[in-house]
Amino acid sequence: MVAKSITFKLLSCMLGAFAVIALSVLLLADFQVKDIINRSQNDIYREKLEAIIRFLEMRVEKLKATGMRAVYEEDFQDLALRTLRQTYYESPNQRIFPFILNMDGEVLMHPRLGHNDGTLRDLPYIQRMVRQKEGAFRYTDEAGEKRWGIFRRFGEWNWIVGFTVPVEIKYADARLLRNSLAVIMAVIMLIVIPVMSAILAGIISPVKRLTEASKAMASGNLDQPLHARGEDEVGILAANFIKMRNSIKEKIAALDDKNNELTREIAERKEAEAELRKYRTQLEDLVRERTRELEKANEQLKEIDTLKSMFIASMSHELRTPLNSIIGFTGVILQGLAGEITEEQRDQLQRVYASAKHLLDLITDVIDVSKIEAGKVDTYVEEIAVEKAIADAVNSLKVQIDGKGLGLETRIQPGLRVKTDRRRLTQCIINYLSNAVKYSEKGGITITAGETDGMVEIRVKDSGIGISEEDLPRLFNSFVRIESHLSTLSPGTGLGLYLTKKLATEILGGSVAVESSLGKGSTFILRIPREIPS
Ligand code: ADP
Repeated sequence: MVAKSITFKLLSCMLGAFAVIALSVLLLADFQVKDIINRSQNDIYREKLEAIIRFLEMRVEKLKATGMRAVYEEDFQDLALRTLRQTYYESPNQRIFPFILNMDGEVLMHPRLGHNDGTLRDLPYIQRMVRQKEGAFRYTDEAGEKRWGIFRRFGEWNWIVGFTVPVEIKYADARLLRNSLAVIMAVIMLIVIPVMSAILAGIISPVKRLTEASKAMASGNLDQPLHARGEDEVGILAANFIKMRNSIKEKIAALDDKNNELTREIAERKEAEAELRKYRTQLEDLVRERTRELEKANEQLKEIDTLKSMFIASMSHELRTPLNSIIGFTGVILQGLAGEITEEQRDQLQRVYASAKHLLDLITDVIDVSKIEAGKVDTYVEEIAVEKAIADAVNSLKVQIDGKGLGLETRIQPGLRVKTDRRRLTQCIINYLSNAVKYSEKGGITITAGETDGMVEIRVKDSGIGISEEDLPRLFNSFVRIESHLSTLSPGTGLGLYLTKKLATEILGGSVAVESSLGKGSTFILRIPREIPS
């Protein structure tokens, strides 16, 4: 956890960088200082060596001046060595000292070693000095101490003159500097670590707070206190975080509202549904009850219908028989077969005759309609010429046509035949034709018959009073009579067209139609199939 925190990471980075820099400085300082020391000490010791060499040269000069070099040489050498010993040696343990060897590696001058100590020739550094004329190098002496030495051959006496210093002393300054630097660095580190930690903690703490707030937000707590301080990146981040959190809060609040609203709506809807279910159950009960009532009423109606049919059947006989008698006897009297009658009697009887006939027509029509409505019509299908049916209709109305002085024209497609109920077809044509006669005062009637679209079409056209547009739609309804001066003159039941439509559609399997304009005449149309559909 600690290793993951930014403070730790930054601190380790900075300390790492500091350690690298410190180490580099130390190494560089050490290297540089050693280099400087090397150069300055080389000069110093070379100077010292030169002084000894100069001293020896002066001795040799003096020796030469004696003119008896061979005699005095050894004495001069001993004296020179003694003088040098006195000058340079203070104690046998001194660590910086000059020394002199001969070419056999024997010690001529040394603070501790004497001539009696034998040859040092086998030591590698002595060999090196024997081989070279001059030089400076590091070596390990016979006592195992690391040393640095500078030497030069003194040619006159073939001596090796050197000056030696322990490395430890030579580089003491450098070591001191390095150690002091290390201590300074360590102290700086010790001061820097807590200071840096404190500064970093200061920088990081807003980030930490932000992290905690974001953690709290992730676990659903949007109210963790958080303040955006400062205008640095972290401050801006915190400000934006707060803004974002507020906007989320607002959205959540809005969603909560919506949710509450929805919950309320659902509850209301459920309530309404329950209510509706209640009503539906009530309605179903009501429908069931009404259906039961309707079924009952239906049964009653059926009973009434049966009663009506029975009544009509019996009435037809009971009424028509006396009516036929009245008509028959009145006709006989009117024809004068039962003796002379006065004009007034004739007039009265004619009224009786007409009324009885009208009543008979009405009864016949009513019976026909009720039979069709009760579905009790037997059809008798036979193949007939359309021309024959039309001729029968015309014949039955010949008297009336001629009586009114109306012209009659028939245009029938030759050889047109149908398989249908002859009596019903003729009845339909008679109904159309009798109306054409009744509602025409002048002009003529044209009957046409032909085949269109696989149906036989019979049209009865007159030049009578015509029918207004608004009356046309109700023309084929029962008991409809349209007011006109002719309707009061000519007797009628208002059942003729209704019956025709019933016969045409329900018995003959066809249809009816009318085209008319008021004052100009009408055309009544009957369409039937060539064969009654079974
Ligand atoms: P009605 O016995 O009165 O003739 P219909 O059912 O045959 O009864 O006719 C209904 C009404 O239609 C008639 O009263 C008449 O006003 C009108 N009508 C029928 N045919 C014609 C026609 N050819 N010209 C004008 N009016 C007609």
